[in-house]
Amino acid sequence: MKNFELGFSTRAIHEGYDPLDYHGALNPPVFLTSTYVFERSETGSERFAGAADGYIYGRVGNPTAAVLEKRMASLESGEAAMATSSGMGALTSVLWTLLKAGDEVVADKTLYGCTFSLLHHQLARFGIKTTFVDLTEPANLADALTSRCRLVLAETPSNPNMRLVDIAALAEICRRKGALLLIDNTFCTPYLQKPLALGADIVVHSATKYLGGHGDLLAGIVVSRKELVDQFRFVGIKEMNGSCISAFDAFLVLRGLKTLSIRMDRHGENASKLAHALAAHPAVETVYFPGLTSHPQHKLALRQMKNMGGMIALELKGGLGAGRVFMDNVALATRAVSLGDAETLIQHPASMTHATYSPEERAAHGFTDGLIRISVGLEDYDDLRDDFLGSLNRLK
Ligand SMILES: *Cc1c(COP(=O)(O)O)cnc(C)c1O
Repeated sequence: MKNFELGFSTRAIHEGYDPLDYHGALNPPVFLTSTYVFERSETGSERFAGAADGYIYGRVGNPTAAVLEKRMASLESGEAAMATSSGMGALTSVLWTLLKAGDEVVADKTLYGCTFSLLHHQLARFGIKTTFVDLTEPANLADALTSRCRLVLAETPSNPNMRLVDIAALAEICRRKGALLLIDNTFCTPYLQKPLALGADIVVHSATKYLGGHGDLLAGIVVSRKELVDQFRFVGIKEMNGSCISAFDAFLVLRGLKTLSIRMDRHGENASKLAHALAAHPAVETVYFPGLTSHPQHKLALRQMKNMGGMIALELKGGLGAGRVFMDNVALATRAVSLGDAETLIQHPASMTHATYSPEERAAHGFTDGLIRISVGLEDYDDLRDDFLGSLNRLK
């Protein structure tokens, strides 16, 4: 099969696995093994030396995970992929492999809370400096890049406030200055946005979210050129963080991927309708959703994303107090962090996913304490509308 010519949904279901290789099993077997047998002692030595292909030990590879890796490389239009035990495992595998004391990172000013903390608090302890700049304006990157900057990192849309960066514009600047561009594609998945095709060097995912899609696992993915992925595997995972994915979780992500395209279509449809309905309600101050013409980067979103995704952030006129009442009054939406599940989830970034920022940092990084984040699920839209508008109507 010439896979790059097949459509996205077809590859999400078939890529990287042939049932006839495994007794006709429709689904890939879950290989529950920590180690692999060497036929002769030389076989082991050759594999360790990289002179022969073949599995060595579970931390470095597993056949079920390998199916997921092939599938994700194809879906992201990349050469190779590596699956990890969580999104943070994916990020740390990359950062710890690429960076050393004295290096600099430029990152967008709003990031998922633990990514912010990793850069701002933890890597700083090892002499790696991160400069946070507003990358929604590409010229700011050109100004911030020094010769010590090895890596530029952004999310688009950003968690939690839905800002977008222009991936192609940032990639062009990085290429000229010799820095690598890493895009966290968790909010979009490759169905909505393909950063590598736009010039980025590395894509990272929390597969815990839309890729898995059912709130029943933790996993991460890195996609890049084979040479870099080999380093992330043999340095990052093998020697530094050990964050290899379990075979069972790899199986579950593969199962999630089969329905990714239809789920993303429905998430996008529900979120778009809900964002418009929320924006029209008198209790609502601002809705942050790239599909609204009021979003500052609406035009970029139309160019860069296939649909506007399933994530919405909003601010109420009554601020944080009203936000808490609003969250407590929804009945169908579930109060929980994480995102990308079938269930609609609602949470408060300042006290939950982004509590790693101090109040001053939150203000400086562009989101308020009143911000509420919604991961719009796959329920019937009318039920979601009734739940959210009903809760808003109860606000004084
Ligand atoms: C959740 C999340 C992560 C971290 O992923 P885990 O799987 O929870 O480790 C990283 N980036 C973004 C944008 C996320 O939403």
